[in-house]
Amino acid sequence: MQLTIRNLSKTYSNGVKALQDVSLDIPTGMYGLLGPNGAGKSTLMRTLATLQEADSGSVTLGDIDVLRDKDAVRRALGYLPQEFGIYPRISAVDMLDHLATLKGIPGSQRKEVVSALLKRVNLWDHRKKAVSSYSGGMRQRFGIAQALIGDPKLIIVDEPTAGLDPGERNRFYNLLSEIGENVIVILSTHIVEDVKELCSNMAIINGGRVLFAGAPDAALQEMEGKIWEKAIQKSEIDEYQQQYKVISSKLVAGKPIIHVLSDEAPGNGFKATEAGLEDVFFAKIIAA
Ligand code: ADP
Repeated sequence: MQLTIRNLSKTYSNGVKALQDVSLDIPTGMYGLLGPNGAGKSTLMRTLATLQEADSGSVTLGDIDVLRDKDAVRRALGYLPQEFGIYPRISAVDMLDHLATLKGIPGSQRKEVVSALLKRVNLWDHRKKAVSSYSGGMRQRFGIAQALIGDPKLIIVDEPTAGLDPGERNRFYNLLSEIGENVIVILSTHIVEDVKELCSNMAIINGGRVLFAGAPDAALQEMEGKIWEKAIQKSEIDEYQQQYKVISSKLVAGKPIIHVLSDEAPGNGFKATEAGLEDVFFAKIIAA
């Protein structure tokens, strides 16, 4: 099974070009869709989830024509949107049972399906509590449980780790990577860390365009020997930005450490450093 996206474009009525000629090949496993806010990630996710229309282009999931055969896509899809909307005051087990009914799971199987899902996402002990009383991490795991109803072939997860504490994020990562073994899981995020930890393939998008598509390792290799770092004073940042291609700066013990992109050693106290996925991300966005 593969998801094939060809020349997908979308311009909103206000003139914003949210997707511009996007083509991607997405195999089974975890696929990271990385881009800053406003890049077009949600537009792409919602289009794949049949929740909105594209202007042009084509998408196939195996032999399903995604843009036309929406019912078939919906049967094969699990979707965890960015905003889940209102969290119901009913218990997790009742809510999942209700959602399973909507998804067409027959009554004879429902109890078993719901129990298995609750165990899988580690919410069995909390199944009788209202979803509205759950912590952020528990809500996300509940969100995965509902996305998994009916054995989807394509799972779309939009900005899933926003608002999770590090422990919750780890548990959520582990759950996702277990799921990602046999199905296509698209993880849309602006957090480089999410992709680094989980994804064997990824795309970087910005301004509705694909800036990179491939394995994270390949992206890192492209940057090898081109990233240089230096600790500077806060007051020097502007000056360095004018002189060098500064792709990132972060504070370490209160002092900015900048990374610059350069084919040759810049001298001036810069030291070679290993490229991280953050460097790739910012370098692609700056170069575009
Ligand atoms: P991301 O999910 O990467 O943050 P979005 O797909 O939400 O990006 O948005 C891409 C661009 O399209 C942004 O400039 C956003 O403001 C704009 N946009 C998103 N939805 C709409 C809409 N319904 N109408 C008009 N513009 C929109």
